[in-house]
Amino acid sequence: TKKHKVTIIGSGNWGSTIAKIVAENTKEHPELFQEEVQMWVYEEDVMVPKDSKHYDSSKGESPQKLTSIINTYHENVKYLPNIALPKNIVANPSVVDAAKGSSILVFNLPHQFIGRISKQLEGNILPYARGISCIKGVNVTESEISLFSEWIGEGLGIYCGALSGANIANEIAQEKWCETTIAYDPPPIDSRVATPTGPSPSASRVNLTITPADEEHRDVLGRISKTKLKALPSEYPPLDHATFKTLFYRPYFHVRMVSDVAGVSLGGALKNIVALAAGFVDGRGWGDNAKAAVMRVGLLEMVKFGKEFFGQTVHTGTFTEESCGVADLITSCSGGRNFRCAKMAVERGVSVDEVEAKELNGQKLQGTSTAKEVNSFLKARGLEAEYPLFTAVLDILEGRNTVDDIPALLARADDD
Ligand code: NAD
Ligand code: 13P
Repeated sequence: TKKHKVTIIGSGNWGSTIAKIVAENTKEHPELFQEEVQMWVYEEDVMVPKDSKHYDSSKGESPQKLTSIINTYHENVKYLPNIALPKNIVANPSVVDAAKGSSILVFNLPHQFIGRISKQLEGNILPYARGISCIKGVNVTESEISLFSEWIGEGLGIYCGALSGANIANEIAQEKWCETTIAYDPPPIDSRVATPTGPSPSASRVNLTITPADEEHRDVLGRISKTKLKALPSEYPPLDHATFKTLFYRPYFHVRMVSDVAGVSLGGALKNIVALAAGFVDGRGWGDNAKAAVMRVGLLEMVKFGKEFFGQTVHTGTFTEESCGVADLITSCSGGRNFRCAKMAVERGVSVDEVEAKELNGQKLQGTSTAKEVNSFLKARGLEAEYPLFTAVLDILEGRNTVDDIPALLARADDD
């Protein structure tokens, strides 16, 4: 039997934390997984910080490659400092090499960078690989919207599920307990029509004819899925809910498996806009009541958006009952980076972008671009006014409104 090789694509604050979780599990479950976990790292020259235990004064101030630092010290000193990473994580600057031969690809990088990386992977992965996207954002192009799980899946010709939850990475890296939600719901494949291709009789690459039932399988937008899914060769352990739960579950990271990929993905993307609003009102000094008010309206807009544009598959319960919905909204509006940077921006009278550049040491906010992307999608449909909080956040980011306008902007919506 074969074992699954796992590659993490991304190595930021959350990417490195997920790599830690996965590597702990591949080591504990040799019956399912190869122990070594490849982690693709966007290569950069990094100085080991002076306060790091890995700082070596004899090496002076010279920068080192981030991959080399991670592979030597087993710590991502830039994006996840002071957290020991398992030694079975191998940092790799080549995404194609890191993903070679992997049957499980975990996508975990800021959403603005996934396009270029996905292009590099096209044609260079196992055709029967499966993906899990941990990315919190939506893909908006020319007024169309799609989920990154769906977009990655269609681009690479694989099925891709989604992982999202109330998951502030630094807390999880310190093994403080939390929950997450994983959505995984691949279309059925009829194994009776399997036709091995290529010279190898090992059946390591099995090409399946798509059955009429598969053609009927509709993706999250209700379109016929373009992905012609290849079956996993039978030598591998199945890639089902049980295997993914084993890959991600830790005593400090509890996993609930669901089928609603759209709901899970949208919760993680849209709450980032609401977290900016929470930061704005907190920074203005309005306290917890105001923050709760924007969270309430924000949750309603999240559900409305999901129902309006992904209604075929989205469940309201995913937003109201799962970690990826209301729980993520609460944690993100309490201590997330979008919240903290928006708060600091108001307190200092500067832009959120300026705070991000100054305070986050290269980590990236997702809420500012998501606010813009969601707005361009809504604007193209003349629906901005129906989402007053989402719209107010962009208008504040771009200087057309101030935080003081929020109560009136939301009250106008109440009157409608
Ligand atoms: P991050 O905010 O730490 O971003 C830094 C990462 O971006 C680094 O790995 C860096 O190498 C990479 N990067 C910078 N420039 C790049 C470029 N030009 N091309 C490719 N990569 C580049 O990233 P993160 O926290 O790992 O976030 C990844 C995703 O996970 C996001 O969608 C985020 O919303 C989500 N998420 C984050 C957290 C968290 O607490 N950090 C928690 C849950 C989900
Ligand atoms: P931020 O990107 O705002 O830190 O949110 C992290 C997160 O998604 C927590 O679940």
